[in-house]
Amino acid sequence: GYVSPYPLPPLAALECATLDWREDATGEAPHSTRYEDVYFSRHDGRAETEHVFIQHNHLPERFAAWQASRPFVIGETGFGTGLNMLCAWACFERHAPASARLHLVSTEKHPLTRDDLERALAVWPDFTHKARILIAQWPEPVSGVHRLVLNERITLDLHFGDSAERLSRLDGKVDAWFLDGFAPARNPDMWQPALFEAMAAHSHPGATFATFTCAGFVKRGLRAAGFNWEKVPGFGRKREMLRGRIDTPPIDGSRHATPWFVPPETCSARHVAVIGAGLAGASVAEALARRGVKVTLLDREAPGAGASGNRQGALYVKLAAETNLQSRVYLAGLLHTRRWLARLDPTRELWQDGGVLQLAMSDKEAQRQSSFMDFHRLPTSVVEAVDAARAGELAGTPLSRGGLDYPGAGWVRPAALCQRLAATAGVHFHRGEVTSLTSTGIGWQLTLANGDALAADQVVVATAWQAPLLAPLAWLPLRPIRGQVSEVRVPSGMPTLSRVVCAGGYAPPAIDGVQCFGATFAPGDTGTELREADHAANLAELKRTLPAYVAVLADAGVDWAQMDGRAALRAATPDKTPYAGPAPDAERWLSDYAGLAKDARRTPSVPGQHHRGLWVSTGHGSRGLASAPLCAEVIASRICDEPLPLERDLIDHLHPGRRLIADLIRGRHG
Ligand code: SAM
Repeated sequence: GYVSPYPLPPLAALECATLDWREDATGEAPHSTRYEDVYFSRHDGRAETEHVFIQHNHLPERFAAWQASRPFVIGETGFGTGLNMLCAWACFERHAPASARLHLVSTEKHPLTRDDLERALAVWPDFTHKARILIAQWPEPVSGVHRLVLNERITLDLHFGDSAERLSRLDGKVDAWFLDGFAPARNPDMWQPALFEAMAAHSHPGATFATFTCAGFVKRGLRAAGFNWEKVPGFGRKREMLRGRIDTPPIDGSRHATPWFVPPETCSARHVAVIGAGLAGASVAEALARRGVKVTLLDREAPGAGASGNRQGALYVKLAAETNLQSRVYLAGLLHTRRWLARLDPTRELWQDGGVLQLAMSDKEAQRQSSFMDFHRLPTSVVEAVDAARAGELAGTPLSRGGLDYPGAGWVRPAALCQRLAATAGVHFHRGEVTSLTSTGIGWQLTLANGDALAADQVVVATAWQAPLLAPLAWLPLRPIRGQVSEVRVPSGMPTLSRVVCAGGYAPPAIDGVQCFGATFAPGDTGTELREADHAANLAELKRTLPAYVAVLADAGVDWAQMDGRAALRAATPDKTPYAGPAPDAERWLSDYAGLAKDARRTPSVPGQHHRGLWVSTGHGSRGLASAPLCAEVIASRICDEPLPLERDLIDHLHPGRRLIADLIRGRHG
């Protein structure tokens, strides 16, 4: 995949900002004790933002004239309290046409705590509504990209980490830069040539920048990176500031080692057909409809008829002891799904984030968990090691083993969620089985089993293990895995679990008078009938993990002879990371990159050829709740020509063509 000049930072808690609050005549204002500088002046901070960043990037005029189908993109170094971005949001609302969208990208190395953010923004009463939306979604202080959907028209991607490192990994381009980040004299580490180069590399032609400083090395760095600049009068008592632009940004050389991952060019996306209305497809449909794209969502049965059709599923992840790309994707996915659900269903009818306990049932697993905790330094609000006694308190039942507690994870009603997504405004659900997909040169023709046909500009295939049944994807390596979940009726009012408890399987708190538990895992088995042997296996696992709770259920008269449940097939990729991205033209890849079989270091400079307007989201295994909504954002962002919600390394890691290349290099093709 993509190789940045920087190593990927560890998946760790960031050090939050340390503030003190300086009083002036008009009230208090936040001040950084780390940098010995102010975030903004209480007296005229907003006027300064308007002058420096908004006016000198000409945002009112540019917003008013914005007609492109893609969003206008602002990039910022140093999100701080978000004041600049809130001002940009307000300016956009005031000036942009109703069809326009705004995408904000901002880096931050030391995020404010939620409490500090709330206190800092309380200074601006007319931003109360916007501040509340931001604060409600404020991410955990974990390095990585956090996408916040502020409303249907405005998206904010917070790239937590160092500005130059984060921007080197940005998959997207910017129209206007806010070069903030404390005075260069107080924060010389940030204002480096590498930062200006990363800005240039991620600029649209004609991108502008503005900054309050006029420091000589900033001017020289910007010039060397290709920006023109001029000095203009600064705000208030500051004599001068800089503004400028870049007309011809440098050609992106970062793909020379992996040309196959060069994304396809954007094409018309007025109407997109999404095939498969499980969580993968239904979340793509929602993501596109939110952006104003007309969507036809097709399924041979109904939304959530396949593996996403269970009553209750666990929203959790299992992360590798040592960080790898897959763990990064899943952790980002877990945090994303939670924010996405909170926005979609604030009253929590479809989900609960009461926490997930991952018990270590063997010494080997306990060892693995302990090396995981040593290796990662994640905040306790994300994951914490707990002993058996504490685990028992959290789960509401005595336990003999400790484990890892994810307090923000939980459970979801996947079947109900798919139905809700399929009913999104702008999504038309169509029952029908797609039997073939034909490119028409400008779009796609879908043929249905009943002979009907449907035309769409673009198509997203989200049919789990059946994706290869459609000819352009016949080569896609996927495997079905049968899973059966068991259910048993429990008396009403009976105390239930207060956490989802996972070990070999999972058991969430009982809902609707039903205790779910499972699931079995049978790779290659495509039967979907209920099997007694699978119920027995699920019960045995439940007894092993939660013996005290099983005894309580038995005392309450639960009848284990009356188990019900559901069996379905999930799809797994060979490396267990989902596929999310454009569909490669496999024949072309096999010929264009055939030379890799002989010499993996001789990379041809041919960009990857893709089936124009064809996309894939599949291979979510049994972790689709954590992966599918983020993958949906990845695909919708690419289709709509927006910055992506993950680092480029992780976007490459999700690419549906990665196995073609890996297999070519290993000599498995040809
Ligand atoms: N734009 C902010 C606002 O509207 O509130 C004010 C930004 S404040 C003056 C500077 C911010 O830059 C701080 O939040 C600080 O933590 C952040 N920062 C400093 N060095 C950084 C770096 N190397 N990478 C990313 N953020 C950095």
